Amino acid sequence: MSQKIYLDGKLVEKEQAQVSVYDHGLLYGDGVFEGIRVYSGRVFRQQDHIDRLYESARAIRLNIPLTPEQMIQAIQETVAANQLMDGYVRLVITRGAGSLGLDIRRTSHPMVIIIADTISLYPEEMYEKGMEIVTASTIRNHPGALSPRIKSLNYLNNILAKIEGTDAGCAEALMLNHLGQVAECTGDNIFIVKNGVLKTPPTDAGILEGVTRNVVLELAMAAGIEVKEIPLIRHDIYVADECFLTGTAAEVIPVTKLDGRPIGTGLPGPVTRQLRTRFQEYVRE
Ligand code: PMP
Repeated sequence: MSQKIYLDGKLVEKEQAQVSVYDHGLLYGDGVFEGIRVYSGRVFRQQDHIDRLYESARAIRLNIPLTPEQMIQAIQETVAANQLMDGYVRLVITRGAGSLGLDIRRTSHPMVIIIADTISLYPEEMYEKGMEIVTASTIRNHPGALSPRIKSLNYLNNILAKIEGTDAGCAEALMLNHLGQVAECTGDNIFIVKNGVLKTPPTDAGILEGVTRNVVLELAMAAGIEVKEIPLIRHDIYVADECFLTGTAAEVIPVTKLDGRPIGTGLPGPVTRQLRTRFQEYVRE
């Protein structure tokens, strides 16, 4: 079956889904995006992703030409047109085409793109044995320069850290913030478990407020686990009992090594496994 892309108000064939080389999304990374899972034909936590998208857009003073309700409608149409049952939806809003130059007044027509596609996941073995990560020397964007809360088309910061992870043979890399505290990984949020308490950096620690992160916090609280959003340093991870990452693609994935040091027993821990199971049950509900 051919793939249909939502582009500027219309569903078009993938081959016809093209944007201008003058689009400021391409020229300057001027735009915002979202990545959303579809489970059993349903868009997971749709409202949370829509809220974050519109907040990101507002933060960069980009007016999305659709209301949130129209955006939800467009997502549903794109998912249906591609008969997507389990997969991934990518929303991209660019500043649109204009003349060269940073001035946003050089553009007039923001571009809305919705891609419904399959998703590539981490290998199953990583969920069973745990993932190894390294600390990147590239720090997370300074919030005073570009807030990490904004899911913008400027991902170079994370890409540079990701390259460091790849060079070290790791699928993810830990990023610290400008204060030297733990922020997050390049495309996933980070959690630790210490003495039964679940800890994750707060939203002002230079992180993207992950939708999966928030779901996991809710699930943990519902399970009676003590939860703390608290600044962490690398030492906290080195001496943690357990560590895991959360993200739209990753869901809940155990981390068993940081910078070559085994975390806890060096195997995925019981709280991580419990939360992973609860998360899987939740998405299938
Ligand atoms: N941090 C960053 C930098 C990300 O790009 C992502 C993926 N969107 C996440 C965390 C995880 O967020 P979510 O659970 O909403 O996918």
